[in-house]
Amino acid sequence: MMRDFYRNLLDQLFEGVYCLDADRRITYWNQAAERLTGYRAEEVIGRTCADNILVHVDVEGRRLCPAATCPAVQCICGAGPREADVFLHHKEGHRVPVTIRVNSLLDEAGRIVGAVEIFRERYDKVAMEEQIAELRRLSLLDPLTEVGNRRFGEEHARSRLNEFRRSGVPFGVLMLDLDHFKAVNDTYGHPTGDRVLKMVSRTLVANVRSFDHVSRWGGEEFLVLAANMDARRLIALAEKLRVLIKTSEMTDGQTPLRITVSIGATLVASDDTVESLVARADKLLYESKSKGRNRVTSVLPA
Ligand code: GH3
Ligand code: MG
Ligand code: MG
Repeated sequence: MMRDFYRNLLDQLFEGVYCLDADRRITYWNQAAERLTGYRAEEVIGRTCADNILVHVDVEGRRLCPAATCPAVQCICGAGPREADVFLHHKEGHRVPVTIRVNSLLDEAGRIVGAVEIFRERYDKVAMEEQIAELRRLSLLDPLTEVGNRRFGEEHARSRLNEFRRSGVPFGVLMLDLDHFKAVNDTYGHPTGDRVLKMVSRTLVANVRSFDHVSRWGGEEFLVLAANMDARRLIALAEKLRVLIKTSEMTDGQTPLRITVSIGATLVASDDTVESLVARADKLLYESKSKGRNRVTSVLPA
C-alpha cells in the first residue's frame, strides 16, 4: 500500500527521478524521466546509465560517464550530494539541457546502496510549445523540424535590424549547415535524413536562450539570430551549439548516427541590410567548410 503511494507520488513529479544500485544499474525510472528522455522504464531498468542511455556531457562535450567524473559514482563512494548543469541524450538523439542533483541512497542501516538522480529541463518547454502553435497558425513553421521557416527568419532578422538601428545594441547571426548530409541520405535513406534534421533542430532550440530565434533557412541549413550579443558571447554560443550537435546521436536500427555542422558567425554592423548580414554569415560558413568542416568561422569587430 505504502509502496504504491510513494510510486504514484514519484510519478506525479515534474522532475525526472531515477535510482541506481552500487554498480550503476538503473533500478527505478519515474514517468517524468520517460517524458524527458524518450526512454520507457522497461527499456532502461537493469541497464547501467553509462550504457549509451543518457550519456551526460558538459558544455565542452566531455562525457561525464567515466567513473572519475560521474556524479553518481561520487555519491556511491560517499562524497555527498552533487549538482550540475549538463546535457542529456534524448532517445531521438538530441541534447536536452538539464540540471541534475544526485545523492546517495541508504539502506535501513545507513549504508550506501546506490544513488538517486533528480533532473529537470533548463528551458521553458511550455513557452516553446505555445510558440510552435502560434507559428503554425501564422504559417511561419517548418513542418518537419518545428522550428521557424525561412520567412520567419527573414522577418525576425528585419525586426532585429530595426531595433539595432534604434538602440545600437548589436545582435549576432549564426548560419549553420550540416556536413556531408547528402551521404546520410544516400547511405540510410531520406526518412533517416529527416530524423537527423529533427535531431539537430531540437538540439538547437533547446540550447539557445528564450529570446533567440532558430529558423530552417534551407534544406539542411539553419539560421540562429542571437539577441543582445558581443563577439565573445557569440563565439561561445556557436561553439556550444557545434559541440552539442556533434555529441547528439540517434540510431538507425542498431547503427549509431552522428552529424557535425559548419558554422559562420558574425555580428551586425552599422551599414548592414538583412541581405548583407546573411551573405557575410554564409561566406564565413563556406570558409568553415573549406577549412575542413565541424568548425566555427567568425569575422567580428576588433
Ligand atoms: P557539405 O558538407 O558540403 O554541406 O555537404 P552536403 O552533402 O551536406 O551538401 P549538399 O548540398 O551536397 O547536400 C545537401 C543535401 O541535403 C542534399 C539534399 O538531398 C538534402 N536535403 C535537403 N533537404 C532535405 C530534407 O528535408 N530531408 C532530407 N532527408 N534531406 C534533405
Ligand atoms: Mg551540407
Ligand atoms: Mg547546404
